[in-house]
Amino acid sequence: MRLAVIGTGYVGLVAGAGFSDFGNDVTCVDLDAARVAGLLRGEIPIHEPQLDDLVQRNLAAGRLSFTTSTAEAVPGADVVILAVGTPQSEEDGAADLRFIEAAAAQVASALTGFAVIVTKSTVPVGTADRIRAIVSAGTTQPFAVASNPEFLKEGDAVNDFMKPDRVILGVDDDRAARVLRNLYAPFVRTGDRIMVMDIRSAELTKYASNAMLAVRISFMNELALLAEKVGADIEHVRKGMSTDPRIGARFLFPGPGFGGSCFPKDIRALAHAARQHGNQLEIVEAAERANRRQKRVLGERIRAAFGGTLAGKRVAIWGLAFKPETDDIREAPALQLASDLLEAGATVVGYDPVAMDNVRAQLGDRIELAPDMYAAARGAHALALVTEWKQFRGADFRRLKEAMAEPRLFDGRNVWDPAILRDLGFTYQAIGRGGLP
Ligand code: NAD
Repeated sequence: MRLAVIGTGYVGLVAGAGFSDFGNDVTCVDLDAARVAGLLRGEIPIHEPQLDDLVQRNLAAGRLSFTTSTAEAVPGADVVILAVGTPQSEEDGAADLRFIEAAAAQVASALTGFAVIVTKSTVPVGTADRIRAIVSAGTTQPFAVASNPEFLKEGDAVNDFMKPDRVILGVDDDRAARVLRNLYAPFVRTGDRIMVMDIRSAELTKYASNAMLAVRISFMNELALLAEKVGADIEHVRKGMSTDPRIGARFLFPGPGFGGSCFPKDIRALAHAARQHGNQLEIVEAAERANRRQKRVLGERIRAAFGGTLAGKRVAIWGLAFKPETDDIREAPALQLASDLLEAGATVVGYDPVAMDNVRAQLGDRIELAPDMYAAARGAHALALVTEWKQFRGADFRRLKEAMAEPRLFDGRNVWDPAILRDLGFTYQAIGRGGLP
């Protein structure tokens, strides 16, 4: 099949490369000329395990190409995939559909025959109707619209895309359903995990899934704060809860609040859309508030440990990406922490295995960035672990203690063993571990 993918970010690039790997002829489009030029040389603009191999292999085989021109990519395509960003609008939390609308108009003027225009971006219910109206106004060619929300996780995106748990297809046209089923058939050979539904239900399924996961995390974060107050250890509580098959073990980890390019903006967009329909989503709104509060917890603790001011103190942050195995720092809890520490007068030094270029681009020289994890700790009066990259788990604590000016650790992910650290002479605080000796 011939595909055009509009938007070559975390979703569009993985999807474009993944579809080409199954023999489709894929052209990926991005407005960012530098990104496209790099991709044509086989350079991957984001950190995503296995993606470079996937892109380079298919680029070399001639099945995958990149361009800045939608007008070049769309003619002759059977399927056009919209994978542009849908950020939060400044004012009210609603999804900003500017990029989707612009992309739809560009696609319309480039159509040369029937194509299925599929939205992979996360968009509010009803967006497909808007896309249909925009495309209709810009072309006389026949087309169908469809919704195919993406569920990949950054950090494991290639695996998620190539072996999806489910493929949701929102369609209102038999031909579109046939084309899309055919496109996804090779991905689900071990069992039909394709679910065909109406477009509005597909659009809502994506928000519902993200909101449920966000609620789980905020629930555990609130419970962790309570555990501290009542002298319980949230790690025991978590394990005890997780053995109930109705609850399960995943997404029950307390931490420094969730970030990333999806959960925060998507729950705000969902709550906003619900309010517009006069239907407040109390639980989702509370999860959002709890998360905003949680992102301040580490900063408050570090500040309190030094009597309320951090003037003259050096604080190290290990892990800046919003989660391990990605360089994405959108709404990362480490950024909130850095800003709180700076406001309290600290000098902040960060280290992340892959996200430092993005942090430098966003924060400039407001924080120092160290070449390795121990260099970040050198001379620090406190160290906060914010993103649980593997290399931090098995840190050499003796080396760490020698490097630090004061041995104070704030474990935002509960990954370290408190007893070992205390034996080594560290002061240790975690999230929700009130029952520790
Ligand atoms: P991104 O910001 O990484 O990439 C979007 C790209 O689209 C950018 O490179 C931008 O230059 C390009 N673009 C914008 N307008 C364009 C146009 N008219 N023509 C061509 N290119 C254009 O975004 P992302 O993280 O890949 O997310 C894309 C969508 O997928 C969002 O709606 C997001 O919510 C959703 N989503 C993201 C993830 C994720 O993990 N990142 C997972 C599932 C769904």
